[in-house]
Amino acid sequence: MSFPLYTDYATYLARHFTGKVQKLTVNAGFTCPNRDGSKGRGGCSYCNNSSFSPNLDAASTSVSAQLEAGKRFFERKYPHMKYLAYFQSYTNTYGDIDRLLALYNEALSVEGVVGLIIGTRPDMMPDRLLDRLSQIATRHYVMIEYGAESCHDATLQRVNRCHSWADTVDAVERTKRASLHVGLHLIMGLPGETRQMMLQTIQQACRLPIDVLKLHQLQILRGTRLALETDQVPTFSVDEYLDLCCEIVRLVPPDIAIERFTSSAPADLLISPRWGLKNYQFVNLLHNRLTNSQ
Ligand code: SF4
Repeated sequence: MSFPLYTDYATYLARHFTGKVQKLTVNAGFTCPNRDGSKGRGGCSYCNNSSFSPNLDAASTSVSAQLEAGKRFFERKYPHMKYLAYFQSYTNTYGDIDRLLALYNEALSVEGVVGLIIGTRPDMMPDRLLDRLSQIATRHYVMIEYGAESCHDATLQRVNRCHSWADTVDAVERTKRASLHVGLHLIMGLPGETRQMMLQTIQQACRLPIDVLKLHQLQILRGTRLALETDQVPTFSVDEYLDLCCEIVRLVPPDIAIERFTSSAPADLLISPRWGLKNYQFVNLLHNRLTNSQ
């Protein structure tokens, strides 16, 4: 659905592809440098990777087999659907470059796969890999999705991201110069952040040459360090977050698409906030509020 007050993801995809396009998540069995000690240990304080990696168990299955399985789900209803292979779990540029390229090329060799979306950290994009991705991008759509989370270094430090906002600025600029599409992932409501700080993050992000913003509310999940601080970390009510998103929509220019506003972790992992809303239900509420406030 397209909504006139901001560029949604469907509109963005329609600018780049003809016909229906679907992201298929793949888990290529990568790890994270913020867990294995090369950048940090213990990971980000809010991270429980199984909450955002629906096919975490799939890592033992080949990338092409995962994509074929994903395609089977859609192709009966949409026989002409095209697909984007979404390397989502952990840090998908962390590893030997030849191995990384072999996995990306395996994904692109699957019939109907027309591009890649590669999720990673902003401090994990070597120029040598960018050069190779830039070559792939002469034939296929390639987006790099960076987990930036906040523009405030104090926040990044507090949640143990082990990278800075300057890393994000540098990675985004180099990626754009390499003629790749850029997405930025941001979390609203990180510990210690005021509403003003969150809006500053949106403003700083919009000054960068990005194509897509992907947002979500902070979720406190079982098995994370943040779960030990629940009494010190307030999370949004639906109403508060709707208000914030209305303001965000007004700040984001139409050349930057907003792919998502919320995330919904599995109920057995989620401590707070427990809104009981699907992502599309939140979007409907947001559209109503935006329409009524025009
Ligand atoms: S959020 Fe990303 S960078 Fe942080 S620990 Fe989890 S996988 Fe690693």
